[in-house]
Amino acid sequence: MLSRFVRRAAGAATRGLNMANLNTKAKAANSYDAIVVGSGMSGGWAAKELTEKGLKVLVLERGRMVRHRTDYPTATMAPWETKYPRGKMPDAIMKAHYPKQERTGYALTEYTEHFFAKDDEHPYEETQRFDWIRGYHVGGRSLLWARQVYRHSDLDFEANGKQGVGVDWPIRYADIAPWYEYVEKYIGVSGQHEGLPQLPDSVFQPAMEMNCVELDLKKRSEAKYPDRRITIGRVAHITEPTDEQKALGRGRCQNRNMCSRGCPFGAFFSSNAVTLVAADRTKNMTLKPNQTVTQVVYDEKLGKASGVKALDEASGQEVEYFAPIVFLCASAMNSAWIMLNSTSHRFPNGFGNDSDQVGRNIMDHHLGVGAAAEAPGYEDMYYSGRRPNGIYIPRFRNLGDAATQRSDYLRGFGYQGGAGRPNWDRYEPGFGAARKTALTQPGPWLVRLGGFGEMLPNPKNRMTLNHAVKDKNGLPTITFDVAIGDNERAMRKDMKAAAAEILEAGGFKNVRELDGDYGPGLGIHEMGTARMGRDPKTSVLNAHNQVHACKNVFVTDGAAMASSSCVNPSLTYMALTARAANYAVEAGKKGEL
Ligand SMILES: Cc1cc2nc3c(=O)[nH]c(=O)nc-3n(C[C@H](O)[C@H](O)[C@H](O)COP(=O)(O)OP(=O)(O)OC[C@H]3O[C@@H](n4cnc5c(N)ncnc54)[C@H](O)[C@@H]3O)c2cc1C
Ligand code: SF4
Repeated sequence: MLSRFVRRAAGAATRGLNMANLNTKAKAANSYDAIVVGSGMSGGWAAKELTEKGLKVLVLERGRMVRHRTDYPTATMAPWETKYPRGKMPDAIMKAHYPKQERTGYALTEYTEHFFAKDDEHPYEETQRFDWIRGYHVGGRSLLWARQVYRHSDLDFEANGKQGVGVDWPIRYADIAPWYEYVEKYIGVSGQHEGLPQLPDSVFQPAMEMNCVELDLKKRSEAKYPDRRITIGRVAHITEPTDEQKALGRGRCQNRNMCSRGCPFGAFFSSNAVTLVAADRTKNMTLKPNQTVTQVVYDEKLGKASGVKALDEASGQEVEYFAPIVFLCASAMNSAWIMLNSTSHRFPNGFGNDSDQVGRNIMDHHLGVGAAAEAPGYEDMYYSGRRPNGIYIPRFRNLGDAATQRSDYLRGFGYQGGAGRPNWDRYEPGFGAARKTALTQPGPWLVRLGGFGEMLPNPKNRMTLNHAVKDKNGLPTITFDVAIGDNERAMRKDMKAAAAEILEAGGFKNVRELDGDYGPGLGIHEMGTARMGRDPKTSVLNAHNQVHACKNVFVTDGAAMASSSCVNPSLTYMALTARAANYAVEAGKKGEL
């Protein structure tokens, strides 16, 4: 039986179409209460929330199916079982299939290759270096991420408006705080309360432990720089499972640090282990892999979207799906691609693009700078397990007071890092008795801090559709034109210098500033391509992530971000998505969509 949402949509769409040409049976079969595009971090949340509220939801995912546990082929693989030594991908394969994504330098190995999209199958152009790191399969990059989760604060939500940069966020911390809490309780976040206004505490499960060198660094450095707080990383790992989490089949983290291969324990948050399981359990979700959404279909007569068009990857056929609510959660770049590719009489420059801001204001977190040092005196000290986490130093610059004010740049940065025994690395060469003996001998420790800096929104940083270069399906590709600016460059100098100061204060030796390779995108925190704002003339989405010009379409991935903060963004995508989904259901019930 068609539900109330579909009946309304079907009735509405019928009024706008020529009945003679209408295949009503096919249309009914492809009609749902809501369509979610993408099944990654944000799509999983949209699916969970909408299905749990009773809507029949179609989730369209461009990539293949990845089932929790059964489709993690390398999850328990030992180093000696790999095809390539230590799982390092041969150069020839990287050059052939991943010439751009090999720039991650660390993440793409034999253990994880199957979770990365291939550059040769999904090409893009760059006028300047742009590193676009993608995972096209059910779960998206929620399988690959490093699970660091931090809340934004009002320092972040107010900065654009106060400083006249970009557009003011249409929401404040108070609007999203309950949704952070809601998401955190569900996914499980391990961390330590710090009470810092610039980094609001989450709802925490027990924190992971710092090792002896990190604890000494904290003691000595905070004595000299009390404002540079050192805390354990906040991660979406379960350290004390709740009944709700156990009911999803999730268990406590085992400190194996093999997470990006897929976690058989469901101990870190991924769509596959958590939100898609929750949505599936309602029996309200239809998940269709191998469906690349190409357009939002806009019904000119109704003044709203009737659904989406997708390319069925198996048959090559175009299929149309119908629903009165559409959630775009295909990731910042792909949601913008769909919008730019959806032209109509009403939207000649792309769906919802009256402001010409779709595809602009691309932001990332600039990184690759910091400092490293040796930590002598700890050679006979050990730690057990492989903690899938590091330490975190929250932002301590430009906090709104004279003491932290910088004259050379706006905003700030945080550090992620840690201390460890490099010869204990799983990927170090060596085997047999000699390797075992080496592992049990006293050995050196290294400490490292890497900055994650806020990037300002700039409309010149943009993506455009490239109709001259097509992908394997004959669809237009993306050309990126993105660069960091003077503000980021000035910040990077400070990121290096301040990291070295912290390590010097820790009493370590051979402190050296690091200045590595960085191209926008390498932070893998791309955002901003359909920003939220108050004014439809200068922004794409309103305070509830609705497209200003078409209220039944919501965009809730990184595209929505009006500024980037300096903290990892995925927690904010999840909170925005849950908030928007609940709003959509209420607005739908009131007939406001
Ligand atoms: C190695 C690595 C480490 C990271 N570490 C962190 C971290 O510590 N903390 C953090 O906050 N973030 C981290 N991230 C970033 C994080 O993974 C992303 O922010 C997050 O996954 C984005 O969620 P999303 O839903 O927007 O996109 P994704 O999770 O990428 O999901 C998008 C989905 O949409 C699908 N899709 C795309 N186009 C279409 C289409 N046209 N039709 C249908 N489906 C489509 C894709 O196949 C994909 O499944 C990391 C990422 C990587 C790769
Ligand atoms: S470290 Fe924890 S989350 Fe990561 S794979 Fe192991 S058990 Fe799973």
